Amino acid sequence: MNAHPPLRRLAAGAVALWLLAASAGAALAATPDPTIPPAWPIDTSLAYSWATGAVPPSIIRTAVDAAAADANGSRGSRAPSFAYSSAGSNAVSYGTSNPCGVNGLACFSRDPARGYWHLWFRENGHRYDWGTLSWCEMTGSPYGCFRAETITIDEFGHVAGLDHHVNLASDSDYADAVVQASSHARAQVGWNASAFGRCDVATLQQLYDVASWTTLYSTCLDVPTSVTLGVLSTTAKLGTLVTFTATLQSAGTARLAGNPMAGRAVVLQRLTGTTWTDLATMSPGTTAGTYRAVYAPSATQAYRAVFRKPANEGVRASTSSSLTIVVVCTTSPCSLQAGTAGTGGSR
Ligand SMILES: [Zn+2]
Repeated sequence: MNAHPPLRRLAAGAVALWLLAASAGAALAATPDPTIPPAWPIDTSLAYSWATGAVPPSIIRTAVDAAAADANGSRGSRAPSFAYSSAGSNAVSYGTSNPCGVNGLACFSRDPARGYWHLWFRENGHRYDWGTLSWCEMTGSPYGCFRAETITIDEFGHVAGLDHHVNLASDSDYADAVVQASSHARAQVGWNASAFGRCDVATLQQLYDVASWTTLYSTCLDVPTSVTLGVLSTTAKLGTLVTFTATLQSAGTARLAGNPMAGRAVVLQRLTGTTWTDLATMSPGTTAGTYRAVYAPSATQAYRAVFRKPANEGVRASTSSSLTIVVVCTTSPCSLQAGTAGTGGSR
């Protein structure tokens, strides 16, 4: 049953956007959630308090606080964080007085320009034309109940700027998002989600950037990457060490462009004949997104850096252009002085 009709969206602009997204057609693969603009500034703290005269029962308050922790802990980005504060200027309401539409379980309004949002929960036992609302936390989780904690994550997602996930025609990707037009009751898939889904996180990362340079990109994304390889000199005396430095960055759009990518596996490869072979997995460099390997070449050969697509991350593989280290002074005694040999120069 549709427990989250579009009527629950209160901002006129948001309704128009939702219609646009819904008419975009069936997606062929899991896609990031659509957005409800505008976004908040990155790293915004959104404190809430209980609405005067509409304070939720304590068990619902506990569920809302748990959902705040769930959202904060799973956003994977610099999206707004949620926390209760007695002085919080944003409100959470519970009860019969709400603008949630005929089928809404809960609903929200948001106005990032004015820095304000509001959540409403319908009262337990509310009679719809399809049946009676049961909040799992209040009713001992019978079949058909709705979990307030999970519904709150959906609402926090909306407040942050997410619109409902566009599921595949089969609905097989339902678990990829909590921000869903039809919230699931117990015991349908996803009814008790305690974290944003990967396609919720994908859009939060697009809107608010990744949380840190080691944060993994959601597997609901497909972000290109770029890796480069450099050395101080492309000429080396036989037996001396060459320091290779690779730089790995995201090459997506907007906030996902040019981010250093730290904590990944970047491999230094060497060309032997016509075959590239792995020489070493490079170590973290001194700055985020750089990687380092030290090697003493025994002959003039070409090198490159490779970033392979990780199974747990929504980014693409990349390969640097190659560079050739010319090995000089291969016979003893060597007549050349360090720094004057060859044509490599420094850069
Ligand atoms: Zn929703």
